[in-house]
Amino acid sequence: MPPQYYAPPLPPGQQYGWGPLPPQPPRRKSGGTALLVVALLAVVAAGGVFLSVKLTQGGDGPIATAPVATESATAKPTLAPSSVPPPATTAAPRPTRTTTTVTPPKPVQTVNPATYNAAHRLYKTGVMRTVNCKQAKTGLGNGSQALAYFKAIKACLDRAWPTQVAASGGRFRSPGLVVWGGSVNTPCGGGVGRSFYCPTTHTIYMESPSIVSFYKQNPTFGRMVGTFTMAHEYAHSVQWMTGLGVAYTKLRYDASAAGALQLSRRLELQASCLGNVFLGANRNSYGITGYAYQMWLYDVNNSGDRPPYPRDHGSTTNHGAWSRAAFQSRNPASCNTWSASPARVS
Ligand SMILES: [Zn+2]
Repeated sequence: MPPQYYAPPLPPGQQYGWGPLPPQPPRRKSGGTALLVVALLAVVAAGGVFLSVKLTQGGDGPIATAPVATESATAKPTLAPSSVPPPATTAAPRPTRTTTTVTPPKPVQTVNPATYNAAHRLYKTGVMRTVNCKQAKTGLGNGSQALAYFKAIKACLDRAWPTQVAASGGRFRSPGLVVWGGSVNTPCGGGVGRSFYCPTTHTIYMESPSIVSFYKQNPTFGRMVGTFTMAHEYAHSVQWMTGLGVAYTKLRYDASAAGALQLSRRLELQASCLGNVFLGANRNSYGITGYAYQMWLYDVNNSGDRPPYPRDHGSTTNHGAWSRAAFQSRNPASCNTWSASPARVS
């Protein structure tokens, strides 16, 4: 169970997606001019997706909808009884009902969310054991194929994470899965153009058209993008099952704008890290080897923040570093982004 020491409701519109779509894959064979043309077209296509996101939602990252909450507003100062003046005997000075000396009692915070996330038991749960996950043979040529593909890997994730969640003091609940295109109506917003996890519904919303598009350009790359995205979004659900996500929400309430961005990067880099713990644990049975491994590597090494989008997911350099380390270790101990130096979560 998530810790009970706070329970701020998640504001509508807050969602934890991947953010900018990954870059175009390298082609298997160098094609000279043709390659350049394809790359240019691909960049334009990707730009179109981003543009539509911006136009329709004005930025759907957590930043855009994060409330500027003031905790102090909830602690109401009460006038002390001493403000009632005693009966005047002589020409006493008029008592002034000043509140300057009245200090509201400080709420006792037994658990610091930052400490909670940095010292979480999840990091002590050990190497994740393989569940011998098999990649769906069906590709991602259209929406219904994508649904089958994501269902298959989700079944693996549902078998892989309960042990780790329970060992870290959380309560495992299999998240929901919705595969969609165009737009989707959720308490976390529409999420136009990208996949996301919504804590309110404990559901993963996989946006299939962009991944289908990757698949059509390069099937192996499309498979790895779909696989990694699913593992990343599922990891967000793990963050909420273990209390990490709620603590993050709490921390954000008190953070500056820059601080909120850094917290978002810690959350997102951790989701990619945990996702790759699972992928590393199942790399052989799933087939993340050979050329597929190269495409996975390209994806994680080239995913991340790039101008003009907000710095809410982490640099490509850091994204690659956390992802590769987790893939190798297969251990959530590699994923403590909450105690990492600012440089490692830049
Ligand atoms: Zn994310």
